[in-house]
Amino acid sequence: MRILTLPAALAAFALALATAGCATAQEACPTAAAYRVKPVDGDTFHVEADFTSPTSRLDLFYFPIADRPQGQAESIRNVHAYGDDGQPVELTYVGEGGWETQSGEAVSRLTYEVRADHDAADWNQGGPGMDEVATRFDDSYFFAGHAFFLIDYDAPACPVTVEFDVPQDWNIVAPWEMDGRTARAANPWNLGQNAFVMGPAKPSQAVLSGLTINMLISSGADEIADGISGILGSVPQTYMDFFGGAPGDRYSVFVFTDTMSDGGAFQNSFAMRIATPFSPADEIVWSHTLGHEVMHLWIGAGAIHSTDPESTYWFTEGFTDYLTIKLMYQSGHLDEAMLKQRLANILRRYEIAKRRTPDATLAEAGANKQENWELVYGGGSLVALLLDATVSAEHPGMFRDMMRDLYEHSGTAYTPESLIARMDASTGGEASRIVDWVNSRPDANAIRQRLLPLGLDSARFGFDEVYVDFAECGEADCVPAFLAKPEPD
Ligand SMILES: [Zn+2]
Repeated sequence: MRILTLPAALAAFALALATAGCATAQEACPTAAAYRVKPVDGDTFHVEADFTSPTSRLDLFYFPIADRPQGQAESIRNVHAYGDDGQPVELTYVGEGGWETQSGEAVSRLTYEVRADHDAADWNQGGPGMDEVATRFDDSYFFAGHAFFLIDYDAPACPVTVEFDVPQDWNIVAPWEMDGRTARAANPWNLGQNAFVMGPAKPSQAVLSGLTINMLISSGADEIADGISGILGSVPQTYMDFFGGAPGDRYSVFVFTDTMSDGGAFQNSFAMRIATPFSPADEIVWSHTLGHEVMHLWIGAGAIHSTDPESTYWFTEGFTDYLTIKLMYQSGHLDEAMLKQRLANILRRYEIAKRRTPDATLAEAGANKQENWELVYGGGSLVALLLDATVSAEHPGMFRDMMRDLYEHSGTAYTPESLIARMDASTGGEASRIVDWVNSRPDANAIRQRLLPLGLDSARFGFDEVYVDFAECGEADCVPAFLAKPEPD
């Protein structure tokens, strides 16, 4: 359910980086770096890199866990750096996933080894889970780019190539443009902020209009592969129709099993781990997670993004979750009963948030996302629900047009202020009025009174039971117009 929080050392870079780099910028850009990857004995990969702009600092992402205080860096060995005269340059590990030259000397060339030993550690203990780091994937290898490539995140936002010198029967499954065995990422950030698999595993494909999805589902998840393919073959199309397009034309999805279900969204890819044994009740959970992570391609990871992720989690997680519910319903993957249950979950989470996070605003709550889960996800989804219901009553399509406008202007990161200003401009100021109202902690009855004329009846019992029904037409399955599938344009 998470999108990545930048390690502190990298947060400053994110400001300057556009998401995927536009085509014209790429054409004017020389290649920023060229990597070569070759498996050597056992679980070890040899990596070489040449940097067009010499660098004095290289980074992995840093997720320290109990088993690995230095996180992903503990799988990196034999780092050797060279200047542009070919002479060795001393490059030292300085902690938190960073390597630096001591004297500020520039590195033009780098060699190192990556050991695929990540499965020996438990990345759930204080970390984001192996879906955001690395794991064996049947007889193949899954990596987050930022756990594998030592990257100069300060390099110009120009393309980066990776030549995979791997056995003939191996596949490279990645969202990057591929020319044979050579991948081309849009820029260093796009190389780090995507996941890939190397090995014999064969992907399946869903080809939608304007978006090709490569799916890799590990053998442990075979029995739900059809369900996953069914969702990925239809839901992203509904998302594209809603937003009027998709970021990029390819997307990679990796699914494997674990002791708990969760997902990690990258720029043009995501990885999901699903708890086994499977059951029909689990399907309710993982199908929503799948829909939620795919939505992050538009919100939070792939397109609409923020200079200050923590202050905007209420939006990037809350709007993602609300739109997942609405659009999975519209694509036929939720029935009316489950739609009501999911809407009730939003209202229930907000009720619990009032008790668990009584003082923080939506923006403040993101600084401790896990602790304030109910306010970030429940409060953020409630803003989306109220905004959609409110503006759609007078102006059907206004909420969608607001989201399209945000998406179309997402080439540059939003500040928390510019995000809300843009939403206000599309909705006559309704967005900030609703954020203020949700921050004022309206009681359940006030929320009920507000939603009832908009077609959504709700009732609360105690602090943690909320029920939802559709109010307007008196029939059992009368879905309010703002949630119903729109007529084609
Ligand atoms: Zn999320």
